[in-house]
Amino acid sequence: MTPPSTTSNPKAVPPKGRPEALFPLFADAVKLPGIGPRLQKLLEKLTGPKVVDLLWHLPVGLIDRRNRPHIIDAQPGVIATLEVTIGPHTPPPRGSRAPYRIPCTDETGEITLTFFHAREDYLRRTLPEGEKRVISGEVEAYGGQIQMTHPDHMLTLEDAAKLPPYEPVYPLTAGLSGKVLTKAILAGLERVPELPEWMDAAWARQQKYPHWHEAVKAVHQPDSPQAVDPRHPARARLAYDEMLANQLALALVRARMKRSRGRPLSGDGTLRRKVEDALPFELTRGQRVAVAEIESDLKEPYRMLRLLQGDVGSGKTMVALMAMLVAVEAGAQAALMAPTEILARQHAKTLEPLCEAAGIRMAVLTGRDKGKAREAIVAAAEAGDIDILVGTHALFQGSVAFKDLAVAVVDEQHRFGVRERMELSSKGVAGTDVLVMTATPIPRTLQLTAYGDMDVSRLTEKPAGRKPIATRALPLERMDEVTSGLGRAISEGRQIYWVCPLVEESDVLDVAAAEERYAGLKVSLGARVGMVHGRMKGPEREEVMTAFQAGEIDILVATTVIEVGVDVPNASIMVIEHAERFGLAQLHQLRGRVGRGSAASSCLLLYKTPLGEMAKKRIATLRDTEDGFVIAEEDLILRGAGEVLGTRQSGLPQFRLASLEAHADLIAAARDDVELILNKDPELETERGAALRVLLYLFERDEAIRYLRAG
Ligand code: ADP
Ligand code: MG
Repeated sequence: MTPPSTTSNPKAVPPKGRPEALFPLFADAVKLPGIGPRLQKLLEKLTGPKVVDLLWHLPVGLIDRRNRPHIIDAQPGVIATLEVTIGPHTPPPRGSRAPYRIPCTDETGEITLTFFHAREDYLRRTLPEGEKRVISGEVEAYGGQIQMTHPDHMLTLEDAAKLPPYEPVYPLTAGLSGKVLTKAILAGLERVPELPEWMDAAWARQQKYPHWHEAVKAVHQPDSPQAVDPRHPARARLAYDEMLANQLALALVRARMKRSRGRPLSGDGTLRRKVEDALPFELTRGQRVAVAEIESDLKEPYRMLRLLQGDVGSGKTMVALMAMLVAVEAGAQAALMAPTEILARQHAKTLEPLCEAAGIRMAVLTGRDKGKAREAIVAAAEAGDIDILVGTHALFQGSVAFKDLAVAVVDEQHRFGVRERMELSSKGVAGTDVLVMTATPIPRTLQLTAYGDMDVSRLTEKPAGRKPIATRALPLERMDEVTSGLGRAISEGRQIYWVCPLVEESDVLDVAAAEERYAGLKVSLGARVGMVHGRMKGPEREEVMTAFQAGEIDILVATTVIEVGVDVPNASIMVIEHAERFGLAQLHQLRGRVGRGSAASSCLLLYKTPLGEMAKKRIATLRDTEDGFVIAEEDLILRGAGEVLGTRQSGLPQFRLASLEAHADLIAAARDDVELILNKDPELETERGAALRVLLYLFERDEAIRYLRAG
């Protein structure tokens, strides 16, 4: 289930341009009749606070009310709608916990209605003795007879005629009943306006899509069992709308990037040649291709916005250096930004000898640099005396000014979202070409939704000479064996990562588990053990990581927080405890922290028996391949897109109506649609263009509208 959109604007101020037709949808749900503050609170938690959030809360199932048997044919365990005559009420004796019972009959038999904690006056009013009523609910067997406990509906014959044949079933939250939620959503439906059609008419006809307002009503007022199928035209239409808004927003950002003048950058290759000569290895084919792609982006008179994807250790840094060297060859400056201090320093260390070989000036600047030293670097950057500046992201946000920054490389691991990219493009870094590096391979299907606005280069092969990581799975019972093996490895001078399990989304328990393991290993191995976990402060964590890097720690116990990019070549063993609790991509990421040095590496997956089917498949996949892209695709199949996207910090968009499994083909269609639209109407000025603007507002992708000339 998708949680309420976290991408929506947290500020309550509505954006200026929101079309009036949408006002009722963006009103707080509390404005709807029958919704009080208590309900509003629950809705906020479950769906989001606005009327539109209610509408996006789609049913996950249906109750079929068409089953209208005689009592004699009513099957236990099935929902039935029965026309009965109400018999004599039998309230329980005072003080008894027995239920309140009302026997009811038709010409074929008897069924008892059963109520716990009943309010007699209410029941007598609703179900007067001797009268006919239609009741609907689940039939139960009880002591050789049948009964119905707390029927869902108890209606007069007249009202029963209005009972819809199918009733939607919604995901709920504690304190909120289906009945109340359904009522709230129905009230929301009353507010649904007719919006101008943004869909291409031919496409809509071909797909049998209803208009938007009809589609919204159809999904909440299902008229057939197919209505909850994601492929049902009404559902598919809403999904398509959402993807169209997503693709359109991304395309507008991209168009603006492309439009915004960059300068054509080209170098003469001299610095790059020097660096290549200094390298103890050849660039891989993938690296060469990526460099060539970047080079041709840089030549264009537009800004570059390119994503460089590749597993840990695939050699992204070298590609980044080449990109930066083009800027320096052209007489300008470049910057490399990393998410943490330690990663920034690591990059600097890698680049230092190479920059030296090329005879260019590199400096590193992080939060740790203070006072005079900092001032000197800042001044040098401003004067153009530094060619490449490496630092943390603060570099960008802070007061650092460059004389002439032409290329910015952002090493984001997996923390760089669409929003950040928009921010980056609207910041005062006009004209700067941007290369984003990520170590999270994204399956192709998701690529489009997450990074549709970026050009992508992928490093799919590992540098030559990498030894495969021997991956083994062992039951937890063999832990002692594993620990004694580690003792031997430590005496040979090897270093080890030990990853502790995730405990039910609770970082407190995670930490407790890690602490226990930490203490245990210290005792059993008598080795130098260190620990990092999510509740430690950044600097504290970095200190431990640095010590591990320096070889002052033999075995590092960690929760999953170990920095993705931190390079400890001497660490060649990875132990993952309760491997069955991790996702495939996560296991792969963790494993990627070893296998970076010259020693043969191994990864031990300790699992709890018996192993489930999914966990078995995950472990088999890991043993079969080290290719992050293959693993990412497999992960998508095993877990589903919802979960792959679910990781909060991934920066990937969350869809509320579209399911990437069910609607994957629609993404491509939406992308093509957007391309046609923007070819014909780049500023969204036609009638359809105006309708598409409404669509962007509807899905709160209206930041993108600012990128239109007539925004
Ligand atoms: P990433 O940033 O993708 O995780 P790095 O750029 O840090 O990977 O490279 C990992 C290691 O591989 C570094 O030690 C680097 O020097 C080395 N390396 C990079 N390119 C090659 C290559 N073409 N051949 C051999 N080793 C390489
Ligand atoms: Mg790296």
